[in-house]
Amino acid sequence: MVGDGFRVSNFFPSGYNMAQDRLSPFFMLDYNTPVDFSPREHPRGVGVHPHRGFETVTFAFKGKVAHHDSAGHSGVIGEGDVQWMTAGSGVLHKEYHEQEFSRKGGVFHMAQLWVNLPAKHKMEAPRYQPIAREEMAHVQLPDGKSEARIVAGELFGAKGPGKTWSPIIAAVVRIGAGGEATFNLPASYNSTILLVEGAANINGSDAPADHLVIFRNDGEEVHATSANGATLLMLSGEPLNEPIAAYGPFLMNTHEELQQAFRDVAAGKFGVLED
Ligand code: MN
Repeated sequence: MVGDGFRVSNFFPSGYNMAQDRLSPFFMLDYNTPVDFSPREHPRGVGVHPHRGFETVTFAFKGKVAHHDSAGHSGVIGEGDVQWMTAGSGVLHKEYHEQEFSRKGGVFHMAQLWVNLPAKHKMEAPRYQPIAREEMAHVQLPDGKSEARIVAGELFGAKGPGKTWSPIIAAVVRIGAGGEATFNLPASYNSTILLVEGAANINGSDAPADHLVIFRNDGEEVHATSANGATLLMLSGEPLNEPIAAYGPFLMNTHEELQQAFRDVAAGKFGVLED
């Protein structure tokens, strides 16, 4: 559990402990497979905590999550929406089940990705991008059964609305039953696909539901098929190739920068947020 509201499996950096040279700029992926939460008046979630040096990107598949931060941003994302938060120089934030969702209870299904920031952008001012499902670029695929929603970067000739600090492509691809999706990703990018729903076959390998596919950097074409239909969270990005110093909620380049982050939180430089 992360707090009492997010029952997640951590695909990386722990688990197989896959090296950053295969996953950078993506640093962490927590996946909350569908869980049916009972109704509760006081919303479950994670209380006030800091972040610096990276972005938290939350993908909502079912249920609703609310966010408040010390930079004055707040918002609620629901089914199909994405919240792209740049912690940058530092925020305090809290992440909870949205009040009405909590009262009614129901199925909660989310993923949270941590995107590392290039050294030159680690201390940017915090930024909050709510990206609603209908704001994403929507592409019907040639098979007549499948579709894609582009969150950031360009895929299938369409560009997503999300702003990023390094080249990243993020999209949700829905393959219809008996359908297929073929697309190209730069060979120099690190690429990974989370099977959010259903099973697929990707470049000849079976990819079961709730599994993560990590690509070798040896080609550009991705060909995915699904007998019964599948939803893929597709992430691809240019590696940063910079030193990493990580501890808890901070992701920096040097140990000294980590120590500075702790001092700055203690000195109140991340602002104020009520619990
Ligand atoms: Mn957080």
